[in-house]
Amino acid sequence: EKVVKENLQDARKQLPVYMVKARLLEEVKRNDTMILIGETGSGKTTQVPQLIHEMRLEGPGVIAVTQPRRVAAITIALRVANEMNTEVGSIVGYSVRFEDVTSNRTKVKYLTDGMLLREAIVDPLLKKYSFVILDEAHERTVNTDVLFGIVKLAQKERINQKMHPLKIIIMSATMDVDSFRKYFNNCPVIYLEGRSYPVTIYHSKMKHEDYQYAALCTIFQLHATTPPNHDFLVFLTGQEEIETIMHNIKQIAKETPGPSIRVCPLYAGLPPAKQLQVWKEAPPNTRKIVLATNIAEASVTIPRIKCVIDAGVVKERTWCTRTGAERLRVRACAQAAGWQRAGRAGRTAAGAAYRLYTAAEFAARPQHNTPEIIRCPLAPTILLLIAAGMEPSTFPLIDAPPEDSIKASLVLLKELGAIDNETNPKLTVLGKKMSAFPIDPKYSKVLLSAPEYGCLEEALSLVAVLSSENVFHTPMHKREEALKVKQKFISPIGDHITLLNVFRAFCKAPLKKQWCKENYLNHKNLSYACEVRQQLLTVCQRLNLTVSSCGSALDQLLKCLLSGLFTNCAWARGGAGTGGRYVTGSGAAAALHPAGALHAMRPPPPAVLYTELLHTRRPYLVTVSAIQPQWLHQVAPEYARRCRAVR
Ligand code: ADP
Ligand code: MG
Repeated sequence: EKVVKENLQDARKQLPVYMVKARLLEEVKRNDTMILIGETGSGKTTQVPQLIHEMRLEGPGVIAVTQPRRVAAITIALRVANEMNTEVGSIVGYSVRFEDVTSNRTKVKYLTDGMLLREAIVDPLLKKYSFVILDEAHERTVNTDVLFGIVKLAQKERINQKMHPLKIIIMSATMDVDSFRKYFNNCPVIYLEGRSYPVTIYHSKMKHEDYQYAALCTIFQLHATTPPNHDFLVFLTGQEEIETIMHNIKQIAKETPGPSIRVCPLYAGLPPAKQLQVWKEAPPNTRKIVLATNIAEASVTIPRIKCVIDAGVVKERTWCTRTGAERLRVRACAQAAGWQRAGRAGRTAAGAAYRLYTAAEFAARPQHNTPEIIRCPLAPTILLLIAAGMEPSTFPLIDAPPEDSIKASLVLLKELGAIDNETNPKLTVLGKKMSAFPIDPKYSKVLLSAPEYGCLEEALSLVAVLSSENVFHTPMHKREEALKVKQKFISPIGDHITLLNVFRAFCKAPLKKQWCKENYLNHKNLSYACEVRQQLLTVCQRLNLTVSSCGSALDQLLKCLLSGLFTNCAWARGGAGTGGRYVTGSGAAAALHPAGALHAMRPPPPAVLYTELLHTRRPYLVTVSAIQPQWLHQVAPEYARRCRAVR
């Protein structure tokens, strides 16, 4: 045990950030704001807060370190606690949505950007903190972008009020430094020299139609030709894809001679315990193949990777202001991401990166990611800003979102009843309650309307399940069977009641893990939904909401859902027999998703409520229930008038 701890300290001191420790701390003392740029793995995230704390530079305050991803905040806090030889939740802690592992002793707090933003509602000056370190700034998530403005204003205001100063550190692997420097009043920029080895880059000779197939071919070609101690890192888009490829690799590996294979998935939803596999060294003569999303691009470091296989794609949420359609689509990633991914192969020795796309395709890609704030719905953010007492129209942002996107969000917030008007918005009583929930205002509206429909019991479960990842587990090789087993949960009303049936059955099941396995359900995601429900229930109780059940009056539940999701209605186009083609309230055309409960229904329901408009090969309505067309007029008359014109 002692030897391990010593090694951990030795390893720390080898990190590039240690080489410049003295100078770095000098700069930290001298400047109120600074930008720190360094290769992934140079020790920014794990070391900088520790170095500051070792010198007690934080004084009586706390050092906050934000992460765009929940899983990064958790795993990094665990790592740092280990390095500091302490338990997580004491000096080092983390705070992510629905989970707070900190105490009043916590001095280094890793938290998601969303959590810090929520704290800013209660305390816009962030008085608890003497340092705010905004990490992974290059990702340009909406929350981080907004936090740039929050900390900038807080820093200034704390000086005005002669309070203890707020120090700001912006950290990133690669980014467009100029616009950041300008935004932060020409603050100093410190570059860390990385320890990287050359990485040879190979592009595909021709375009691939199917990158999953190309990935499998490349994995096994390399497996046959490289020594077993060369670990692979494969960049894919998401959990389901990773699970499919993982299964395929295991199947093919049975037939293939050569060293044995250990496959480790790594994606945002994976529980920390499972993630540890990724950092464990594989046994001798075993090749480790890590299948990761872009989370492995910069947030976390995986040692000993010699080969990177990059599908060159990322799953991204975008939003179309005109149709109000939110899309989840797989798109080509930016060049910066391509370099970042390739760089993962050169951390401990020279390596190679295999890009599953051509050099010409790479050249045609944009250099940097578009900031999320340009392409996502802003209602949740604007509600937070208003709740924090900020003025959305004058709030300082590095990149301003499109004017019509702000306008559309204000209209939505008005129709949800969260604000009183769109030009000089003030929070209503309802809006204040809405901002107490750490979820999208559409869903907090659902919970707040539920007592009126007598269905808070059900609404809580439903919102909790909708806040979690997919609860169905449909492995490719057992598809038929999984679908057969799923039948018993399916409701003819649609997917929402189906989800509710699953969740209720899960809650009642005594041996949950085993039960999930038998029923092709995802145990982790359902357990997460239970925790979420508990948290949401706590907020409801604080607001004195009556928790009652609507029993079999499920119409009530759907009307309640509609009260928050009224913008998510679609109508069958051209009546029956058209094969389930729908047009949404904002005029977008879409079909029912084939995996949905209503897909096979004939005739298709005249009106539906959907949770998501998913644009894959074509636009699909996902998680859909049949509703009565007149409900929209009863539940959201203002919106109904507005969208009838479109119809
Ligand atoms: P940066 O933020 O600059 O990308 P980090 O501080 O995240 O760097 O990581 C620095 C180094 O610490 C990594 O290169 C890796 O060697 C080690 N490290 C970080 N997290 C872990 C972990 N969970 N397990 C093992 N090693 C880790
Ligand atoms: Mg980092």
